[in-house]
Amino acid sequence: MILRRLFRYLKPQSATLFLAVLFLLLAIAADLAGPLLIKNFIDDYLIPRSFPLSALFRLGGGYLLLLLAAAVFTYLELIYFQKLALRVIQQLRIDVFSHVQRLGTAFFDQTPAGVLVSRITNDTEAVKELFVNVLAALGKNSLFVLGVFAAMLFLDRELGLICLAVLPLILVLMAVYNKLSLPIFRVLRRKLGEINTHLNESLQGMGIIQALGRQKKLIAEFDALNQAYYQNTVKSIVLGSLMLWSAVDFICFLLLALVLSTFGIFTRSGLAEIGVLYAFINYIFRLFDPIKGMIQQLPQFQQALVSAERVFGLLDDPRLAPGKTGGLNPVIRQGQVEFRGVSFAYDDENTVLKNISFTVNPGQTAALVGHTGSGKSTVANLLFGFYRPQAGEIMLDGAALPEYDEKELRAKLGLVPQDPFLFAGDIKHNIGLGNPRAGQEEIVAAAQFVGAHDFIAKLPAGYDEKMSERGATLSGGQRQLLSFARAILANPRILVLDEATASIDTETETAIQNALAKVRRGRTTIVIAHRLSTIQEADQILVFRQGEIVERGTHQELLAGRGLYYKLYLLQQGDS
Ligand code: ATP
Ligand code: MG
Repeated sequence: MILRRLFRYLKPQSATLFLAVLFLLLAIAADLAGPLLIKNFIDDYLIPRSFPLSALFRLGGGYLLLLLAAAVFTYLELIYFQKLALRVIQQLRIDVFSHVQRLGTAFFDQTPAGVLVSRITNDTEAVKELFVNVLAALGKNSLFVLGVFAAMLFLDRELGLICLAVLPLILVLMAVYNKLSLPIFRVLRRKLGEINTHLNESLQGMGIIQALGRQKKLIAEFDALNQAYYQNTVKSIVLGSLMLWSAVDFICFLLLALVLSTFGIFTRSGLAEIGVLYAFINYIFRLFDPIKGMIQQLPQFQQALVSAERVFGLLDDPRLAPGKTGGLNPVIRQGQVEFRGVSFAYDDENTVLKNISFTVNPGQTAALVGHTGSGKSTVANLLFGFYRPQAGEIMLDGAALPEYDEKELRAKLGLVPQDPFLFAGDIKHNIGLGNPRAGQEEIVAAAQFVGAHDFIAKLPAGYDEKMSERGATLSGGQRQLLSFARAILANPRILVLDEATASIDTETETAIQNALAKVRRGRTTIVIAHRLSTIQEADQILVFRQGEIVERGTHQELLAGRGLYYKLYLLQQGDS
């Protein structure tokens, strides 16, 4: 199954494959012709005990030529097989990576990044080994073995047949080894993935780990993983030494004994057969090198198969990002947002949103407030199509969300996420992501507009200041301001601002508030607010409790209603 899929990748490379196999056959032929040359020499000159110098030179020269030819062909054949493997693996990596990009948020919620990195790098690398080893080594060696048998049969039919009799023995050995080692290698691969995940998580969360003083516990976990890895490796080595080396050597000498005794017992014409005997012994020794080589490759072959399984498993992962339906390509012009009886659960069990309905008219501002975990960010996740609701519909300008083209949505909808993500690169690059066509001036203008310019200007390198991974050198508020500038740069019709929960200093908070007051004009805005002071101007305020909208209205109306909003408001007034 897996091999068939892998071979599909070979098809486009058939020219390279052809050359590789051609050079391989030539190399084998040159290699196997040597003993025949010597056998003829023995037959023609050694037995009559008269060898003229010229014949000796001819033998030496011929042998040298054969060696040279074998070396050149082997070189070419190696290059072509490597080329082939590298091309295949390149295509496979591209396929895996582009598939991963199409996967939905649900997939990434459930898959640790370390596992993914391991799939895309280690596992594809192992698949490359599969090509180099299976095609080059297994294929090469089996061709070589076939060549040896052909030469043997050509030399002496009966002796050749006797040698052929060991072949099933070796095949059985290989099959048994295969069967026993597969589960071990599967565990090995999984453990390696776990070790990667563990490392990745620990490194990313090192600050928290140190703050919580959990270093010891993490080391213990890491130790346990490594111990399991070690034990399985030992198991595989024990199995390999027993099944491969000892058993194969045994068969080799068994065969040698068999050939020699057959020869001794049934010698037909004595001396005349010395040349054949020489060639046979030479071939028998040559026979077991490739066989050992093949068996030696089996572990890697196994690992590679397991890796290939995992790579193709990833390629087949069905958790794709929700796609577009229908052939219409509606365009967002007004920017009206409507939720119609939307219910949603991330895991099909715990309902996070229950029958949510609301409408935000073009140019209006709606604010979502409520306790932590009440489902506010989830509303944004659905609006952006990261997940599909199980019930209900989300309409934009009167058309259902799934009917929109991805491009249209990304162009007209802007999101300032609760936990903004910054990429390694400078500030300019991070803001510029909002609109690839924007130049320096537009980037600065966007930063000024949202009030991020002041703090950027104070950085040593200004807009060229390099960000470390995830923007760890900036405060939470500063990151959100950058993310805000990024969203504004695209000039979206509909803007969703998910206020950072992180404590933001008053200065940054004022900057965000001022920016919000400006960006609201002329576009539909949804603000998910934790500081109620931010949203008193909103056209409507939706109060969430455990996935339901329990109150709605303007600031004044809600205060007058003396419900949940009133309580939240009083609490926050008390704070400040
Ligand atoms: P906060 O004010 O803290 O930002 P919120 O109102 O934005 O809270 P949500 O992020 O919408 O809350 O989360 C609502 C519920 O959904 C929570 O119970 C949370 O545990 C759950 N949840 C959020 N994201 C996921 C996810 N990716 N997978 C599974 N469950 C999730
Ligand atoms: Mg949230």
